[in-house]
Amino acid sequence: MSSFHVLIAGGGIGGLCLAQGLKRAGISCAVYEAAAEIVHSGYRLHMNALGGEALRACLPDNLYELYLQTSRRTPEREMSVMLDIHGGEIWTRPHIGPPNEGPRPHTAVNRRTLRQILATGLDDVLHFGQTAVEYEADDDEVRLLLDDGSSAVGDVLVGADGIHSVIRSQLLPEVDVIDTGMRGMWSIAPLTDDLAEVMPAALFDGFAIVTRGDGTISAIGVYDPRRPIAEAVADLAPGAEIGHVDPYVMVTYGSDLGAERGPALPDFANDSPAELHDAIRRAMQGAHPGLVELVERIDESTISPSAIRYLEVADPWPPSRVTLLGDAIHAMPPSFGAGANSALRDAACLVRSLEDAVHGRKPLLEAISEYEGQMRAEVFPIMRASADPDAVHSDHVPDLAG
Ligand SMILES: Cc1cc2nc3c(=O)[nH]c(=O)nc-3n(C[C@H](O)[C@H](O)[C@H](O)COP(=O)(O)OP(=O)(O)OC[C@H]3O[C@@H](n4cnc5c(N)ncnc54)[C@H](O)[C@@H]3O)c2cc1C
Repeated sequence: MSSFHVLIAGGGIGGLCLAQGLKRAGISCAVYEAAAEIVHSGYRLHMNALGGEALRACLPDNLYELYLQTSRRTPEREMSVMLDIHGGEIWTRPHIGPPNEGPRPHTAVNRRTLRQILATGLDDVLHFGQTAVEYEADDDEVRLLLDDGSSAVGDVLVGADGIHSVIRSQLLPEVDVIDTGMRGMWSIAPLTDDLAEVMPAALFDGFAIVTRGDGTISAIGVYDPRRPIAEAVADLAPGAEIGHVDPYVMVTYGSDLGAERGPALPDFANDSPAELHDAIRRAMQGAHPGLVELVERIDESTISPSAIRYLEVADPWPPSRVTLLGDAIHAMPPSFGAGANSALRDAACLVRSLEDAVHGRKPLLEAISEYEGQMRAEVFPIMRASADPDAVHSDHVPDLAG
């Protein structure tokens, strides 16, 4: 199998990590990404050991070190904290995932920075502006058809094309996207010294959720890198296209994830940034002065509406030359901050399975079947737990057994 070639539809977090891992393993691949570049989509991502250790396995050493150095400084308490609007602590609980300790545990990253790190060194295999449309597979090969009429042929196709995956729609058409109807918005405020002084201290812990007791919440997370990004890039990956990011606080406003019982919020999709800002200001009326100030400091150009959607859990399917990874097969609500971490986990696991196939240790379909079986055992329980309305309660212990 010396000419073994992997086609990857989608250059998000999972698809890029897979490409890095395959490159490291000496396996040829090509990534087809619909967007013209690495776009701004979302801000801070909570990281855990599942995703962080997958990055260690897939990235070259300098880029893994760059990920660590551009990760958020280690907070005093690596906890998820629930606060009332007066800043009073209601509960704390550990983040889910395997042990995450040591001098530089996995904390949080700026999403675009992580994607830029993941894209570094992939110029020869990463094709922007190429949208996957459908595939044709037989016993010997798989062909990926692209929207410009061209196509690419490989031994395996990996659908890493997110929740609305065209590859999954063809492979597993019965799996539905579930729209929770939950709506909200996310934004960032620059983290300045004077803002930090007035913010409740618990907002600097691992992650904070402010509940208003009316079925709406604000998730608040600090991003302040361990080392200035430009300095770390100059040292570890000179010339890499990785943008500067100042420290910030991510602020969301939306339905409580457990609040199929809470009030329906309006669909903010057509509101202007100023209207969205006013909505979150109104929600923080009477809150701790540091929370009111934080909301006041939101940069309006960063506010975007969001909707919570997830996938039905797929029944087991027969392995083939076409497989799936990340949100394309297990998009989940962000209850535990586990979606991107799980996509990275998949990437590292799939690299190991494809290495087994390429080096003749296992037949290809057996290797893919093992990858898919491990994903069902390790990620589907997190997916189920994330969609459980009880996930918002401190004493709720998610059942993560396979
Ligand atoms: C509000 C919110 C907060 C979150 N917070 C966290 C968190 O803190 N921690 C965490 O672990 N997870 C979090 N997640 C989940 C996380 O964002 C996703 O699980 C993660 O982005 C999945 O990565 P992916 O690579 O599978 O898919 P995506 O990131 O969706 O990437 C898919 C890529 O495929 C491309 N694409 C789509 N269609 C095509 C096509 N037809 N052809 C070619 N390319 C295509 C897209 O342009 C995109 O680049 C959060 C999600 C939300 C909504």
